[in-house]
Amino acid sequence: MRPRCWDFGTQTISRRAWLAGAATLVLPPWQAGQVDGVVRRRVRFAENPFQLGVASGDPTPDGVVLWTRLAPQPLIGGGMPPARVEVGWQVARDEGFQQIVQEGTTVAAPQLAHSVHVEVAGLDPDRWYWYRFRAGSEESPVGRTRTLPAVEATPQALRFAFASCQHFETGYYTAYQHMAAENLDLIIHLGDYIYEGAGRANLIREHTGLEITSLEDYRNRHAQYKSDGDLQTAHASCPWLVTWDDHEFDNNYASEVSEQTGIDEVAFLARRANAYQAYYEHMPLRRSTVPRGPAMQIYRAVPFGRLATFFVLDTRQYRSDQPNGDGKKPLEGRVLDPQATMLGARQESWLTAGLLRSETQWNVLAQQVMMARVDRLPGEGGHYSMDQWSGYDVPRKRLLQFLEDRQIPNPVVLTGDIHTNYVNDLKVDFDRPELATIATEFVGTSISSAGDGMVKAAYTDTMLAENAFVRFHNAERGYVSCTVTPDTWRADYQVVPFVTRRGAPLITRKSFVVAEGRPGAEAV
Ligand code: FE
Ligand code: CA
Repeated sequence: MRPRCWDFGTQTISRRAWLAGAATLVLPPWQAGQVDGVVRRRVRFAENPFQLGVASGDPTPDGVVLWTRLAPQPLIGGGMPPARVEVGWQVARDEGFQQIVQEGTTVAAPQLAHSVHVEVAGLDPDRWYWYRFRAGSEESPVGRTRTLPAVEATPQALRFAFASCQHFETGYYTAYQHMAAENLDLIIHLGDYIYEGAGRANLIREHTGLEITSLEDYRNRHAQYKSDGDLQTAHASCPWLVTWDDHEFDNNYASEVSEQTGIDEVAFLARRANAYQAYYEHMPLRRSTVPRGPAMQIYRAVPFGRLATFFVLDTRQYRSDQPNGDGKKPLEGRVLDPQATMLGARQESWLTAGLLRSETQWNVLAQQVMMARVDRLPGEGGHYSMDQWSGYDVPRKRLLQFLEDRQIPNPVVLTGDIHTNYVNDLKVDFDRPELATIATEFVGTSISSAGDGMVKAAYTDTMLAENAFVRFHNAERGYVSCTVTPDTWRADYQVVPFVTRRGAPLITRKSFVVAEGRPGAEAV
């Protein structure tokens, strides 16, 4: 049986010079149903195979990862034959591809859903480039990307944005349109890139299918999200650093433990392997990230010259189970367990070693769940999130104490997860407001999750009164743009007043500045 959407064959050589080299081989006939070592060069697609757009990520001073996926029928498994297909790529200094600096071919294999991850090296530092792909006679859209400054360089500025939580059903991605227009050096995604739930009717868009569990389910869900034009525009605008939170796999999971009781851990790990593989396939990540079964190391450090290092963390894969049955609880019982871990021993020692070695002015933890210990219960007593760092009291104190004791320069924590904006002063002991602020935490709201937001939530005022270290709270949708210089870190809280209709304007709701050497954000 032959999928109808592709064909090998007899087409003439492409008019474009850069396609010519790939069209010269006469192909053996393809045998249905088996994957052999033969790389097909002349594939004909009935539909555009580049409907998921292009992306780049994990830049270094001399390279970057270029991503695309061949998927002529994205929502139903991709629509590609079970065969290896050659994909050409080019990198140019200009948008019109007059000055091509590198080109080559790679193989899109069915085992990785015909995704393409090209690790370009040998580029100049601190420079913009444009890239594109071709397969058969089809060409991808053009993406723009850049390399990082040399490790020893002293850049005068970095402009980036961070985002999280883009539930497809509850809102349009208008925020990404605005983000792309900001002409940023870098975009950081802190997780909940997809949501795993079944399709729900009567929202603005609908997930296809039931709750996702199989590899094909996760692939189709990623493809559905990637079909969004605003998201594609943001991916094509600059390189991304991505990490996941829970919904890329399953809500509030901890390591191999489901939030639901009675789920077999082996079966749950098999599902995790599906989720992680599909995540790798759809993100501009390096080969070193390729999952091995249910394990995938996504934590990594990315230095932007001597200006800033991004420690991109994973607070899901290695954590101990949420204490006291998750939810919001007082600080007792397993919250105080000295064996509890948020990062896992290995990632935690990698992080502290990296922070000690860091030679950059700013040291950024790009991670998922809120680090400030926010009390949600007005008045006497306290209720704290068991899923956030507040539920992991010992490792939270250990990390903040480490930042203080070792005088790590200018630590800044970036957080997603909770679909609201916060600015927090981080302290070792949040019960003692007189203590020095050790670091600043910027929590970014969702791109679309939870639908249209509001300037103030019903609980905003009581929460602020209860938690003196929270400097700002806001419940609109959007993202945070940061401008980092050797002297200051400026964070602009960029919001869109609605997401259930298209065309929302961008509003800078509030801006904060952290001065170098002086932790704690001040409103501008
Ligand atoms: Fe979320
Ligand atoms: Ca209280």
